[in-house]
Amino acid sequence: PSVKEAPPVLAPRRTTRQIKVGSVGVGSESPVSVQSMTTTPTTDINATLQQIAELTASGCDIVRVACPSQDDADVLHIIAKKSQIPVIADIHFQPKYVFTAIEAGCAAVRVNPGNIRKFDDQVKEIARAAKDHGTSIRIGVNAGSLDKRIMDKHGRATPEALVESAVWEASLFEEHDFHDFKISVKHNDPVVMVRAYELLAEKGDWPLHLGVTEAGPAFQGTIKSATAFGALLSQGIGDTIRVSLSAPPVEEVKVGLQILQSLNLRERKLEIVSCPSCGRAQVDVYTLADQVTAGLEGMSVPLRVAVMGCVVNGPGEAREADLGVASGNGKGQIFVKGQVIKTVPEHDIVATLIEEANRLAAEMGEV
Ligand code: SF4
Repeated sequence: PSVKEAPPVLAPRRTTRQIKVGSVGVGSESPVSVQSMTTTPTTDINATLQQIAELTASGCDIVRVACPSQDDADVLHIIAKKSQIPVIADIHFQPKYVFTAIEAGCAAVRVNPGNIRKFDDQVKEIARAAKDHGTSIRIGVNAGSLDKRIMDKHGRATPEALVESAVWEASLFEEHDFHDFKISVKHNDPVVMVRAYELLAEKGDWPLHLGVTEAGPAFQGTIKSATAFGALLSQGIGDTIRVSLSAPPVEEVKVGLQILQSLNLRERKLEIVSCPSCGRAQVDVYTLADQVTAGLEGMSVPLRVAVMGCVVNGPGEAREADLGVASGNGKGQIFVKGQVIKTVPEHDIVATLIEEANRLAAEMGEV
């Protein structure tokens, strides 16, 4: 039997230590995972679990929930128990919630030492509790909440400042022989963020959680995250990612998965190869591409569908794809696996492509 070759990647993963976030491995021996964060009040248990279920269905690997108050901390045990994917409690100000989250069975806890006063006094107990419960930690350094001492030294949140903070915080855990943590050094400027992660990657073998913080609304945030994550992942840097968008969290997961698929760090699922159209187009390519994309949404098999506007590149691309159309003169030539199977009138192109895609998907095991 022929062994399917793994698709090429731009660089091997940087070698890191391995940690676990519940059942999900984070580190160079595990696939890059995708995270998101709930937007519901954590105390609204049903709404939070509903959102976690939606995130799970969209392909999210790990979910983070905010824990700003005692009431939030008090419901973590229910959420951690009922969530289908590992839950990380996000804690900024109160070390006591860290202990509650660990005891609640959260898979991991995110701490922001820059925001936790007297953090260093508590590290020993946090490390002991986390070790006893098999809980991992994320040290989440953020440009907006750098330790005052480091801000005074660097003047602003430079890559060097972010990294100095992260390395110092890592050393506090390592002094207590605790190593099950990953680090993030987030900034809203992709250039600063990329440089910070590059510097951090040289300083230790910690698994890294990538994020451009406050990346903005969906369009801008998608571009910023894709640019920054692409620059890092193409060097093998990054073990888990969170796209931050001012948009529903399911959108963050879709973007994160698409970034990984584009870099061959995840198996590509449905891929629409459509031309941008030009003065030669003999059909409305935008509408055709949108209708085919909408008609095939949710398909989970790797299928490449080409939607091309004319006969210049159309037949070539359509032939290379699993399925495709090359349009022209009010008709579409439908290609399946490189062969023209039929020519249909323009108004039947979408329906024919969807029908053929479903047939191919069924052959590939899509249920
Ligand atoms: Fe233009 Fe044809 Fe190329 Fe589409 S396939 S961009 S219509 S030349």
